[in-house]
Amino acid sequence: MKIVESFGDLQKALGELKQSVGFVPTMGYLHDGHLSLVNKAKEDCGSVVVSIFANPIQFAEDEDIDNYPRDIDRDLNLLIDGGTDLVWIPTVKSMYPEDFQTWVNVEKVSIPLEGKFRPTHFRGVTTVVSKLFNAVHPDKAYFGQKDAQQAVVIKQMTRDLNYPIEIIICPIIREPDGLAMSSRNIYLNDQERQAALCLSQGLLAAGDSFQAGERDAEKLRHTVKNVIKKESLAELQYISCAHPETLKELEGNVETSLLSMAVFIGQTRLIDNVLLGNSKS
Ligand code: AMP
Repeated sequence: MKIVESFGDLQKALGELKQSVGFVPTMGYLHDGHLSLVNKAKEDCGSVVVSIFANPIQFAEDEDIDNYPRDIDRDLNLLIDGGTDLVWIPTVKSMYPEDFQTWVNVEKVSIPLEGKFRPTHFRGVTTVVSKLFNAVHPDKAYFGQKDAQQAVVIKQMTRDLNYPIEIIICPIIREPDGLAMSSRNIYLNDQERQAALCLSQGLLAAGDSFQAGERDAEKLRHTVKNVIKKESLAELQYISCAHPETLKELEGNVETSLLSMAVFIGQTRLIDNVLLGNSKS
């Protein structure tokens, strides 16, 4: 496995890879969710490129990027074991030199849900992913359904900017007890880790209710809210039942929909979602 930092070294290393190239962008502190994307890329492509970059411009001022968990040695060992061919670890300075002033902004689908509470988040994500795509020019890029809105926003950006890249969205990987894997789970103490189960349990309850025939969007949202409400350490920020592609909030009877939410467990903000009426997640 080759490890590079500069754009120049990346270009040289890319030239030595077998075609086709599968790309997995990450912010590091890897877990089985990230590795599932690497595995899928390995299955589909001749070579796998992974980037590790905790992207400062997708964090708001009150979101502490300096405390974002990091363990580069552990990450690299996991990537070697996963069969990654090339890891790119750009520096913040090389990505955003002092006079940096160009942004990529996807409009409509960046606005609701996460965008409502993190208004500068997605322009940070689309700007960095655009820069990563321009540097790596992969054939396929892999993202997780865990960040459901991000998946929609990236697909939109890829279409709108005519990137010749196939975007593959992989299912959410969960801990055995249901908690969606996330680098942020490390922030949870034992009590909070237990409390965090209310997210997946809420979604499971709504999923069961949908299976049993419930189709009313408000009732499905309500089912999740009721589970979260019972957990004293949890504070629901939003629960949404939205169109899976436009992300418009739905009312009345729904067939396919994205049920998604953000919940604070203590100081830690967690997100989770399920696609209803769809076998993908
Ligand atoms: P991050 O390092 O948090 O930016 O995540 C990098 C990629 O891994 C994103 O496409 C995420 O959606 C994906 N990812 C994170 N957690 C999971 C998970 N539990 N299951 C599947 N994919 C995930």
